[in-house]
Formats: sequence, C-alpha cells, structure tokens
Amino acid sequence: MENIQMMLKQGAVGRPCAPVVKTGDKVKRGQLIAEPTGLGAPVHASVSGVVDYITNDRIIIKPDEKQSDDYVKVEGSSNLELIKNAGIIGQGGAGFPTSIKIGPKKDGSILLDHGYILVNASECEPGLAHNIAQIDEDPETLIRGIKYVMEIAGADKGIIAIKKKHKATIETLDKLLANEPAIERHLLPDIYPMGEERAVVRECLGIELEPNQLPAAANSVVINSETVYSCAKAIEDKKPLIDKNVTVRGRIKGGNEAHVFMNVPVGTTVGALIEKAGGLEEEFGEIIMGGSFTGSATTLDAPIMKATGAILVTVPFDDLTGHKMGILVCACGGNLNRMMDLASKYKAEVTHICYCKQAQLQPNGTRKCERPGNCPGQVKNNLDFKSTGCEYVLIGNCSDCSNTVMASGPKMGLKVLHMTDKAMDAVGHDRYRELTVSKAVDQDLNVVDNVEVE
Ligand code: SF4
Repeated sequence: MENIQMMLKQGAVGRPCAPVVKTGDKVKRGQLIAEPTGLGAPVHASVSGVVDYITNDRIIIKPDEKQSDDYVKVEGSSNLELIKNAGIIGQGGAGFPTSIKIGPKKDGSILLDHGYILVNASECEPGLAHNIAQIDEDPETLIRGIKYVMEIAGADKGIIAIKKKHKATIETLDKLLANEPAIERHLLPDIYPMGEERAVVRECLGIELEPNQLPAAANSVVINSETVYSCAKAIEDKKPLIDKNVTVRGRIKGGNEAHVFMNVPVGTTVGALIEKAGGLEEEFGEIIMGGSFTGSATTLDAPIMKATGAILVTVPFDDLTGHKMGILVCACGGNLNRMMDLASKYKAEVTHICYCKQAQLQPNGTRKCERPGNCPGQVKNNLDFKSTGCEYVLIGNCSDCSNTVMASGPKMGLKVLHMTDKAMDAVGHDRYRELTVSKAVDQDLNVVDNVEVE
C-alpha cells in the first residue's frame, strides 16, 4: 500500500490544522493527528501505520501492511459534539465545518426557527455518480442522518433535493418516506448548477436569496447527502471522517463509465485511484480533481481529501497556437486562474477577459451568481470579444447561459469552447454549448445506468 498523505487543510475553507503527532509515531486508523488552529475541523489518520514525515501542509503516513476495519472512536457528550470531534466537513465541495453550519448561533440559540434541512442530492456536476450510488446502497442511513441534523439545527422539515432523472432512487426513497411525515423529496431539473446552495433553496422553497445571503436567511440549511451519512456514522458508530466516496471517470483504460469507489481512505493518491479504475489511457489532456465545472487540474501524486468528489481524465486539448482567445468567466464555473490554465493548455493567446454580469464579486474575492441558472443574456460580451479580435471564446457558464452565448456567438463568427468540453468528450456526454435540457436528461440516464460500483 502506498503512503497516505493527510492534508492539514482538507477543504477550500478554513485554516490549516496543526499536527499533534510527530515523525516516527505509530498511529491507529481513526486516531486524531491534527487539530484546528481556527476555522476548520480535526484530521484523523485514515489508515494505521507510522508517521513517515511531516511537511508544512501534510502528514505522510506509511501504512501497516495489514489494515483492519477497526478505528479509534470519537467521543462527545452530544450529537453535535460528535460531529465536531469527528471532523465532519461538507463533502460536496468547499468543505465548511458541518458542526458550525448546523450548530447554534453565536448567541447560543438554536439555528433555525422550525426551519428546513435541504439535503443536496443533486450530484450537480455532470458525470458523477457516487452520491446516488450511496443512496441506492443504503437509503435508511440517509433518513436517520437527516433526522439527527434536523434535531440539531431546529428544523421541522427535511427535504431531499434530487434530480428527476434518478427514477429508481426516487422510487426507493418514496417508499421509505411514506412513513416519514417530516421528510419529503423535491425533484430538480437536470441542469447545471442545480446543486448551488441558493439554487437548492430557490427550487425547494421558492425563495430567491441574494448572492451574499446564506440559506439561513431562508430559515434553512443546505447539506450534501454524503455529509449527512458522515453525520449519522459519527453519531451512531462514533466514526471520524476518514473515508470518502469518489467517482473516477474519463480517459481510463477499459472504458469511460463511472467508476465509483466507496470508502476510499482520505489521503489516497489520485494515481492509485486511477490505477484501480483501469489506468490512464496513453493520450489524455489533463486530470481534474473535482467536477468539470468547479474542479481544477491535479497530478497523479496529489492526495484526495475529505471534500474531493471526483477524478476526471480528459481527452487531449486542440493546439490553438497563434489563435486569439477571449475568456468569459462565470460564477458557477472556473475562476479566472482556472480559465487561464485551460487557455494555456489550448496554447491560445488570451486577448480579452470579461465576466458574466451576474457573477458578483464577493468580499472574500470569489464570485457568486445573482440568479443561478437564469441567464441575463451574453450578447454584449460576445460583441466585446468580436471587437477585440477574438477568434475563439472560452466559457465556463451554466447550462442556460451557455445556450445564450451560443445564441449570438457563432452568428458573429466566434468559435465557442466550453471549459468542460474535454471532460465531456472523455465521459461521453454532450458538450455544454450544444446541450438542450431534454438531451441532458437522456445523456445522464445513460450515465446512471452504466454506474459500476467497486
Ligand atoms: S448567470 Fe452568469 S454567473 Fe450566473 S450561472 Fe449563468 S453564467 Fe454563471
């Protein structure tokens, strides 16, 4: 077994943790190895072994040859404390500490006023399959987890937000929910970005939040379905968050279907997971950690973290040497750095950059969409690209907005590329700039039919 790399910062949010072990220490699976130094969650060893060395951003563990399913259990005097001590963070993306998200307000009062827990089971990024696979495998734990989270946050109602294409999963859930009057499910259309927090609030509750408002402003909390499972395991089994479910997909030898790996030890390398899925095809473009919209390029030796959902291997990039390219940055796709990285992989010369006018800059430097999934129209940006001599335009827009770019761009002679093109080609999904909603539903039905759980 290869060395395991436990990152001291496991998500995009918060500060790195401080190690509480030193080189040469023997550690057991589940043992606390790093504590938060500010906003963050504790890190626990995902394998038993010896601390090989420690750098400023990670603890490297040499695993014992023999591993067992046992783990060091977390302690806590309440369900919330168990979730906190288990190091649970949001497993759908940013990795915000769950105990803070669902715990009491600063004044100590309960978070919600008879509000809603909105369970995000949208598996929003195209081609991913591990969230739905987990629900299919064990829907009962999801229901129990929702009840724990509802109780902690003060919610009267739980709503599971799931895309309507997952017909078999919905049928299973409906049977269970027949006996659960406080929990229902809400069906989402299959467009990106249905999993964005405010989109989930809007779809489930009909409330439009401002970009700077959190779901609490709608008396709700949005929580990813895998995170709900981790809460249930922390409470019932006293299990720290040491495993992650991951979809591996794309230019993988032996097929581009979704390879879903359950309970992968956090800290396993991207390369080890790709090998497990069949190995890399000889020719590929890049390896993405995360989804094709919000993930970023990674390397074979990078470790997966608590918030890692997918590893995607794309087809090779076209060589656009000598061609001028414009970049349109969307709040729901790649940020400017990611878009520039992609442009450099196309070897294009970037001559103009603009932002979707609904991609509002936030105080922390990120951008949020004013109205996710409701496009303001992109004619002005296309005119700007045209007038600045761009031949190609690279976009990262949501489904709806990609269609509006396409409504005017090609007519002006612009060749439109979407940041997800090479990943979509690799997983056999239509490219976003050519996608209609009905086509998307058909595509993703095939995706789910082909899931291979390993
Ligand atoms: S409106 Fe703009 S920022 Fe919002 S999802 Fe669409 S492209 Fe992204």
